[in-house]
Amino acid sequence: MDDAALVIEDGAVAWTGPAANAPAADEVVDADGRAVLPGFVDSHAHLVFGGERSAEFVARMAGRPYRAGGILTTVRATRAADDGTLRANLARLAAEMLAQGTTTFECKSGYGLTVRDEARSLALAAEVTAEVTYLGAHVVAPEFANDVSAYVDLVCGEMLRACAPHARWVDVFCEDGAFGAAEAAAILAAGQAAGLSARVHANQLGPGPGVRVAAAAGAAAADHCTYLTNADVDAIVSAGMVATLLPGAEFSTRHPYPEARRLLDAGATVALATDCNPGSSFTSSMPFCIALAVREMRMTTEEAVWSATAGGARALRRSDIGQLTPGSRADLILLDAPSHAYLAYRPGVPLITAVWQAGCLV
Ligand SMILES: [Zn+2]
Repeated sequence: MDDAALVIEDGAVAWTGPAANAPAADEVVDADGRAVLPGFVDSHAHLVFGGERSAEFVARMAGRPYRAGGILTTVRATRAADDGTLRANLARLAAEMLAQGTTTFECKSGYGLTVRDEARSLALAAEVTAEVTYLGAHVVAPEFANDVSAYVDLVCGEMLRACAPHARWVDVFCEDGAFGAAEAAAILAAGQAAGLSARVHANQLGPGPGVRVAAAAGAAAADHCTYLTNADVDAIVSAGMVATLLPGAEFSTRHPYPEARRLLDAGATVALATDCNPGSSFTSSMPFCIALAVREMRMTTEEAVWSATAGGARALRRSDIGQLTPGSRADLILLDAPSHAYLAYRPGVPLITAVWQAGCLV
């Protein structure tokens, strides 16, 4: 909407419409022709971790083999870190996200892989967001490398009991080298029986059962969706499940991007998220993901911004965020640009000039 105005009252959007018709207000902010958008909703991030893996990235970009252990490198560093160190790293990343216009983010565990370390990861995540996801099934813990079913039992039993009180969601990495279809289905069912809602890491590294397991479980979202069959696309659409695309991961691992156009043209609901994590996508920037989605995945600028806001809200089953309709939480951003299109048109440029969260300038 051009020449628009918006009224905030008690932390919520109270009115939107043409500026000429705006009701009187106690305090007025003149956006001066610049664009106002809903705050970004980042529905997929892994922010509780110790250490970093830049050497692995450098080697990957140079085409050199690197065998330092991937996720398990971060598991070791996370287990060794005290709560204060993990909390400080989490706070730094949360502040980074807010400065880049993200007003709601989801945060997963998954670098502890012991009862104690998963539970404390989730307790720390719950300090900074309501959207906390139990991902004890990120990879098989190294202590259980020779007994995957014993680890699945732990994830579905003692670890779940320790983690469920801190979490809203249960997630599983359903992929060759992580968890298979039957294991993933069992983990999601156990989480749901403990009161959690399901979301799934699916079809990231190759074709597989992840999307169909997610649909069968009634998951809110299947995340990654890089390798999809026609049956997978049909399953996403008919289940009404959100397909969350994470182009930061393909960018950072130099893999082919997911086929956003194919999903959109089939009628799927698409969300964009950062997948922020120290291994495969160490970006916290939703504007960067929007630029990738437009340039590399052929989403229109409108589709990409919708997917980074309203799409993310749907992936989290939230109706109070991701939009600026009356009644929504007043989470909004002011761009130093006349249109949302600049988020892709000016990639890498810090355009977020102000952020309001629940009506407060932050
Ligand atoms: Zn992830």
